Amino acid sequence: MLDEVVLDQSVNQATEDISLDDYRRLCAILIGAIPLDRKQSWAGKVITYLASQTMQSLDEGNGVPRISTKAIYLDLGGNPKQQPSGWLSPIWNEIEERHYPEIEPTLIEECRRAGLTIYPRLEKDHGKPAYYRIEITPAPASSNEQTGVEEELPKQSIRYKRDLSLKLSWPGKLFFSTGLRWTPFKRYSYVTWQLVFLLAFTLFDLLLWVLLWYSKPPLSGQELVVISMAIGMPIGAYWHFRDIFRLFEDRILIAPDWMLAIKEFGATVEINRSRNPDEDSTILVQRYTSICPVCGWMIKLDRGEPDFPRRIVGRCEEHPREHVFSFDRMTKRGEPLNRGVIAPNHIEQSTPTEVSESALPPPERGPA
Ligand SMILES: [Zn+2]
Repeated sequence: MLDEVVLDQSVNQATEDISLDDYRRLCAILIGAIPLDRKQSWAGKVITYLASQTMQSLDEGNGVPRISTKAIYLDLGGNPKQQPSGWLSPIWNEIEERHYPEIEPTLIEECRRAGLTIYPRLEKDHGKPAYYRIEITPAPASSNEQTGVEEELPKQSIRYKRDLSLKLSWPGKLFFSTGLRWTPFKRYSYVTWQLVFLLAFTLFDLLLWVLLWYSKPPLSGQELVVISMAIGMPIGAYWHFRDIFRLFEDRILIAPDWMLAIKEFGATVEINRSRNPDEDSTILVQRYTSICPVCGWMIKLDRGEPDFPRRIVGRCEEHPREHVFSFDRMTKRGEPLNRGVIAPNHIEQSTPTEVSESALPPPERGPA
């Protein structure tokens, strides 16, 4: 299949400042950053394939390759009922929109920990045929403003990263796309709204009791409906306001469904209070994820109930009741909450420069 791997001189020139060894390390970090559960998906396989093909081409002294749609399709065994581009196109969209943004923060951090100021990106050169390649780009400034470096974690601990693939619903975008500034005006409007709500319910219920007091038995169907409304509506209002009260008490909550796009979950809504009393707080909707140090699947945040009431915890997608971690929204770190949960030695919490060969797709590829 080597005739499908086209060497592009312009790619080589653009990246000639980067040593081939660093390029190889970046590819290994990229493979290591894919969570285990994602590795089996087509998106995970395509990313792994691009990275391993790049490493192989570098090893053979052929420079950084551009890999065609057909090569990916044939080598990975794409759906024989589809054309290569028809098969790869939706997978690539998934990679660009979801899978790459999901691992990008981890990738940047791992590269930084490996002493690199660059990180790998996946690029598609549109055209007929289209080509795919691993591009190198400078890493943004460290998110850790205090020190610029993140300290080493104890073995069982995890570090959460912001997941950039989170999509909000349209009302979510309307209010929270860049964070909602909690200005005094909004605060007073909100309190007024609640008072009006409360007043309306009290009046409604009072009126109802007066009416019932003077009504003669037996009760009509209409009266029964009104009574059930009088009982049901305050309960509904309580549910409605409970989460908002909780947010101000706990500062962080699992985001309600209406804020998120369909199929999205595990996001939080949090209030970030400014240290400067003159500055307004901001309400943000974000998602943090990590990789489970025990089994390698993705960890997402969830309500702690029933075992850890009123806490936000990180739950592994594969073992949600056992692999449970705390979530500290200040340090973005987590510790195991269930005793006896120990990371096995064979899954290191990733020193991705030492990615095992088993993480790569089978290297044997017959000559084209
Ligand atoms: Zn797990």
